[in-house]
Amino acid sequence: MTAARCTHCGSVLTITGCPGQLPLLDPYRDGRQWGTRAQLSHHLGYDVTPAMLNNWRQRDGLERCRIGREVYSPVAQAASIEAAKRLAMEDGGRGRARRLDPSLVAAA
Ligand SMILES: [Zn+2]
Repeated sequence: MTAARCTHCGSVLTITGCPGQLPLLDPYRDGRQWGTRAQLSHHLGYDVTPAMLNNWRQRDGLERCRIGREVYSPVAQAASIEAAKRLAMEDGGRGRARRLDPSLVAAA
């Protein structure tokens, strides 16, 4: 039997569900919330994948901090990188086409 995986982020499910749905951390106690790639994927929405978060860490300067066996990144910084990429895309930038709701396209 293979381990069941989360259909959203691909994490192996535990008895309590997807580890990506665990509460975010505030490791520096400065109000900034940090999460693993799986947590950020859940937090930022259906089309943000753990692989994209890897790219943002490597190419876009997304901060990281290792706590135990996991690497965490700040949710707010990941959200601003995501927003910047989405705006660049709407501006005619190159990159992965985003899945748009057809009703939103029709309304535009
Ligand atoms: Zn998940």
